[in-house]
Amino acid sequence: MAVVITPADRQSFKRCRRAWDLGSRLRQSWEPDTDVVEADLGEAVRAALAVWYFPGMWEWDRAIVRPLALAAYHRVVADWPEDHTDVAAHGERLLGRYFDWAPSVDRFTPIRVETDFEVSIPDPTDPVRDLAAPDGAAVHFAGRIELLVIDAFNSYWLVDHIIGDGWADVDALVLDEAGAAFTWAWERFFLGMEIAGVIYNELRTDADLTADMVVTPPVGPGSIASVGHRRMYVRSDRAGVPEITREGNDVFRRTRVSRGLVEMERVRHNLSLEARDMTGAGLAVYPSPSWDVCSTCRFRPPCIALNTGVDAEAVLAGGYRHRPPVEEREGRLGGITWSMGRGARPPKFGRGSGPGR
Ligand code: SF4
Repeated sequence: MAVVITPADRQSFKRCRRAWDLGSRLRQSWEPDTDVVEADLGEAVRAALAVWYFPGMWEWDRAIVRPLALAAYHRVVADWPEDHTDVAAHGERLLGRYFDWAPSVDRFTPIRVETDFEVSIPDPTDPVRDLAAPDGAAVHFAGRIELLVIDAFNSYWLVDHIIGDGWADVDALVLDEAGAAFTWAWERFFLGMEIAGVIYNELRTDADLTADMVVTPPVGPGSIASVGHRRMYVRSDRAGVPEITREGNDVFRRTRVSRGLVEMERVRHNLSLEARDMTGAGLAVYPSPSWDVCSTCRFRPPCIALNTGVDAEAVLAGGYRHRPPVEEREGRLGGITWSMGRGARPPKFGRGSGPGR
């Protein structure tokens, strides 16, 4: 059986090896022993966007798709604790605005939504061979893309929905390791398909949705103008950096970041090195305390116990449980396991689960 590394593993491994060691399925596989469902606005909005961009319904009248997308949103929100009514209403207003705005900028055709991939990871010392764990098991990288589209120039793009307060810094998007790794992995998973890059689709949850959309004059070359929408070229003429285009308004923003061959080669190499470290024998595990990371860490109690010589096993036994095995998952909208053809309708709009980005 293959050792499967997820994007969450990579992120956790780099943030703090102790937290990764405690929580990763590759290691001790603990999780807090609670079944409380947290109100995750991003998850609910993504459920709606997965329906909105479902390929089989792309040519349907948007007035028909809109209530289906909102129904998917409500299905997620229905599991939230009752004291989140305001957040749920705000999210619905945000989606309403988005559905008004998106058709003016959706200059692409969706190909896949919520689709899983799993690929082998090359050996960093010999990329022709696949990496193997010390016991000989294959080492794989797995994740789920949110959306794959083809644009008017027949270029394929991955789309990453970013739902949260404020805007992401443009360099944070350029440096987005998950987006780059997904680009590399999808090309390996779907041999022959070249991915031009990632479209970061930002929905700002702290925006004032009672105000009219701001109409701002277009900026930069190639600008186009429409109500509540502006387009600007942020960076397209500097040698050695990806081409970046951005458009949007005060609530929504689209940033295209191209991913080239040189970057893909470096992504492959970095992923291979990390995977070798994670799966190799004799890995050093140590904490990396920093309040930015520790403030949201689910393993603070056992970590403090380990630091202070208290019985960490007892802390884990008292408040944590071992994570259940990974279930075979249907994509949120079926992934690749059933028809994506025009006119096809998903058999259900249920929620998915599993490794996120
Ligand atoms: S509390 Fe901080 S140092 Fe401890 S495991 Fe969590 S992230 Fe690491």
